[in-house]
Amino acid sequence: MKPIVLHVAAEVSPFHKSGGLGDVLAGLPPALDDEGVDVRIITPRYGGTSKFTSIGGEEGLAPWPVPLRITLAGQPIDVRVYEARTHRGQATTYFVEAEHLSRGNLYGYGDDAYRFAVFGKAAVAIASVLSRSRNVGRVSVLHAHDWHAALALYYAKALASSVQGIPCVFTIHNLAFQGQERASTTPYLDIAWEAFHEVFEDHGTLNLLKGALLIADRITTVSPTYSHEIRTARYGHRMDGLLRWMSHKLRGITNGIDTSVWNPATDKHLPATFDADDLAGKEACRTALRFELGLHPSKAPLLGCVSRLTMQKGIDHLCDVADDFVRRGGQLVVLGEGEEPLEHRLHWLSMSHPGAIAFRRAFDEGLAHRIYAASDLFAMPSRFEPCGLAQMYSMRYGTIPVARATGGLVDTIAPLHNLHEVGGATGILYRSDESDALRQALHWGLAVAHDPAALAAMRSNGMREDFSWQKSARTYVEMYRELGL
Ligand code: ADP
Repeated sequence: MKPIVLHVAAEVSPFHKSGGLGDVLAGLPPALDDEGVDVRIITPRYGGTSKFTSIGGEEGLAPWPVPLRITLAGQPIDVRVYEARTHRGQATTYFVEAEHLSRGNLYGYGDDAYRFAVFGKAAVAIASVLSRSRNVGRVSVLHAHDWHAALALYYAKALASSVQGIPCVFTIHNLAFQGQERASTTPYLDIAWEAFHEVFEDHGTLNLLKGALLIADRITTVSPTYSHEIRTARYGHRMDGLLRWMSHKLRGITNGIDTSVWNPATDKHLPATFDADDLAGKEACRTALRFELGLHPSKAPLLGCVSRLTMQKGIDHLCDVADDFVRRGGQLVVLGEGEEPLEHRLHWLSMSHPGAIAFRRAFDEGLAHRIYAASDLFAMPSRFEPCGLAQMYSMRYGTIPVARATGGLVDTIAPLHNLHEVGGATGILYRSDESDALRQALHWGLAVAHDPAALAAMRSNGMREDFSWQKSARTYVEMYRELGL
């Protein structure tokens, strides 16, 4: 029987996703399966947001036959677990449905720490059952993702004897989110005061991510450049000192993308498909998207952006330069939702440039695919970017990313240095975190879009790049082996 690596994560696409975390938990498991690992995933079953179409609707979910009893701070909590073969048969996923945890949205509630403590308890209970079962392989590694899964590591080490010795990996998908709470929350999450002082305390507050960094046997983050950046004061979100100290167990492994889902030759969301040898379908996608979003029919270079609308993503800079971009003959389409002031600015830009700027405030997977396919350029003016997937989707769909040189953007985009000598370039990178730098980079983007030879060369370079998960999966497996897989 194959050894089990048990992943614990708040998002798994296509069931529930708010960003890249969900995509990683969609793409990495099949690649690990290919490397001989029995991949099992524990994730919440939320209320209204969970979509189970890809495993045959609700019928695809089988109630787990093992009754689970958990208590949190002395309170018994009702938990139901549903099991399914997922990832086209390459992984098993356990969906945890529990009081408090299973609500309409993934996050954003005042008691999120408590909700994910319930999740952590349930995850460890499932791990304990699996580790005692004779019908499955050995649970060899517990791999937790982001702060929502941090408490699973603590409960595993501190409370549950049957999983205590299992090596733990913690992956940072975004260091900005740390699960920080008032210290007084500590007993309600079943954290011993001793552990609070030794592991979780962060300037008098409770910091769940910090605890996971200390508990884990290995820490990974999602690109080599980000793994260096987070050890600096500028990008370290106050954890840089700790991370420098933890350097011996920290490494950066670049995310891949699920190339079967993100494939312009077969993508069901597109009105026309295409590939690197025949881009006619891309032109059809562009015409259709203009119609869908009410943009003027035109040959203007189209700049796309699909993003959480947050300061992290530099959306304010995009708003600053949108006017200039349109005045120079471009068109802009933005899909996203997030911080209200940014949504308002984008709404106003679309009102004041009808037919040239379109803004859709929504989370819409199909439209996202159509934007990657239809655009010439794709904006990622991120202040920091742990890995970023959108730039890889863009390149795969023949769209040139214009991105700030930070984190995974540096590791995945080969930058253009000279307009007259494209070489192996796949995108445009700029350094300074200022709108003017983005403006300049977009001028380059427009120049490329108007130069058929440069455009074709960069498109072709990007579309032929190998962004599959295979290489990263091998690196993860090497690390699991160091831990005794
Ligand atoms: P992050 O995880 O920081 O949000 P990534 O670039 O790693 O950024 O991943 C973002 C993922 O979320 C991509 O798959 C992107 O297409 C998707 N996404 C973001 N906003 C939306 C939206 N409004 N509608 C559809 N997909 C979105």
